[in-house]
This record gives sequence, structure tokens and C-alpha cells, in this order.
Amino acid sequence: MKPYFLINGIKELSKEFKGKANIYLGIRPYGFHAGNQLPFMVYPYLLCKFTKELGFTPKFNFFLFLNDWEQDALEGPDLANYPFNIFPKNTTFQFTPSPDGKGNIVDFYEPIIATNVKKALEDFKQVKVIVMRNSSMKKMKTMKDVVLKTIVNPKLVRNVLKKYSGKSILKNSCSYCNAICKSCNSAKTETKIMKDQRIRAKCLICGSINYGPYESFEYWLYHKPLALPRIYENKIDLCITGLDHYNEGDFVSRKELFKIYGLKVKYPKTLYSHLIKGANGLVMGKSKKNDEYMAFPRLLKLVIKYGDNSIIDLSK
Ligand SMILES: [Zn+2]
Repeated sequence: MKPYFLINGIKELSKEFKGKANIYLGIRPYGFHAGNQLPFMVYPYLLCKFTKELGFTPKFNFFLFLNDWEQDALEGPDLANYPFNIFPKNTTFQFTPSPDGKGNIVDFYEPIIATNVKKALEDFKQVKVIVMRNSSMKKMKTMKDVVLKTIVNPKLVRNVLKKYSGKSILKNSCSYCNAICKSCNSAKTETKIMKDQRIRAKCLICGSINYGPYESFEYWLYHKPLALPRIYENKIDLCITGLDHYNEGDFVSRKELFKIYGLKVKYPKTLYSHLIKGANGLVMGKSKKNDEYMAFPRLLKLVIKYGDNSIIDLSK
């Protein structure tokens, strides 16, 4: 299966889907900037628009996956050279306080993200926008399977990334899923599955030892294995994501991850969106402290202007 890119990709997909598909949009819910707005607003809007121009009614289901099980920030022995030898800096977004002091940061950003996407798609009355947090999928069978397998054998993920990303990976310090400490909410735990299938999590921050069934914990799960249950459980036909993920080898590695986790899935198509460089010349991203929100009409104009030229550069 081939990947789809940019404006031409949207046009091809509008012909193939004829208005019906389950579409995956994933976000780390701690901000919403132009780099997110492209795959979340502009691309869905254009897919609906082109679909309508072909004479079909857009009836897409857009799933907004809010990754509350992702880490607040990454740490590792050497992130630049070994980007897959990682652990969470503190905790997950689920336990990161909201900037307004009410609830967690996901409670703060969920309405902002959902409202923006719904507004961009308001002309297409039969389109559905479904918001889903990882934590709300905890009891789904595939989520549980992926969590447990990743805890028992992080090498499943490591070996695939090593083979397909083109990056080096150190042998030690590989883990891609931890239970969260129930005392201090740290994601820095040593997590094991015991003989009775219960989880044991020893906190490396406060020292407490938690012990209990899978369902009694919340988790940190790295985004690459975390994608699998979301795609599988929601019968996803299309993922829309930034071109940076293609450059990381995700297109091939995700397929391999499905295989080694034993999930038989109709592999979704993937549409890669423009990258946008901010005024400082860096690709826009919260982690790069470069996260400008832009008015939808301006962003739409930029995407049309750049067409199949993959990098929108605001520094020029
Ligand atoms: Zn703790």
C-alpha cells in the first residue's frame, strides 16, 4: 500500500472513499497550534470539500484521539542520537495539571481542540466528530493486550524501530509502557506483571510499591504501540498525520507492529500533511517552543498556495 501526500493525496482519497471512512487524528493534548491545525482542520475540511465537488456527500467519522497516556516530556540517555531510548520525564498528560488549575491539561485542551475541528467542518452536516481519550479505551481488549505485551516485552517495539527507523537504539534502558504510581502519579516506575497476572509498579520517585489488577492502574504508553488499539478498535480507514512521522519511518514500522502484536487489521491508508515552519525557521511544535495558533482562513490559503510543496515556511 502506498502513502498519500499533501493536496494530491487529499484529491485521490476523496475519489477513493466517496464520502465514507473512519478517520484517525491523534494529538498530544497539551496545546493546539498551526502544526496540529493542518491535519486536524485544514485537511479534513479539504477532504470534505473535494468529496462534495465530486458529487458525493461527506459522511466521514473523524476520531480525535487525545493521547492522555503519553508522557509530558521525554527523557533519555541521549535523545538526539538515540530517540527511542526514552522514558517519561514526570508523568502523563492525564496527571498534568491544567493551566487554569481546574482538572488536568486534557480537560483544558479537549474543548479547544473539539470546537476548532467542529467549526472547520460545520458546512458538512453529515460528518461526525468523535473525541476519544486513551484512558477511556482502557477496558477494550486490544488496549489491554497491547499494554500487557509492551510491559512484558519492550523488545517487540525496540526491534521494529531498530529495523525500520534507521536510528540506533541502545540495548539497555528500553521501556515503552509503565503503570503510573498511585501515590505520586509518577510515570517513572519499574513495572512488572506477576505470576498471578497482577501488575507490580515500584515508583522510582517516591519509592512506594503498588500492586493490583490491570484495571486498577493508569498507564504511560509510547505513541507507536498506542496507535495500534486506536486503529484496530475503531476500524480506521485513514490516518492523517504530519510528514515528520513519514520521515521517521512510521509508515512501515506501524505495519510491522501490527504483525508482531498479532493484530489482524485491514491496514489503514495514511495521508501525510504539510510541515509548517514558524517564524524562527523550526518546524512548529510545542516541544520546540514554537506553537502559534493561526486563523483557519489564513492557514487554508497557505495550504492551497503551497500545494504539493511540502514545507510551509513562515520565516521567509
Ligand atoms: Zn510515586
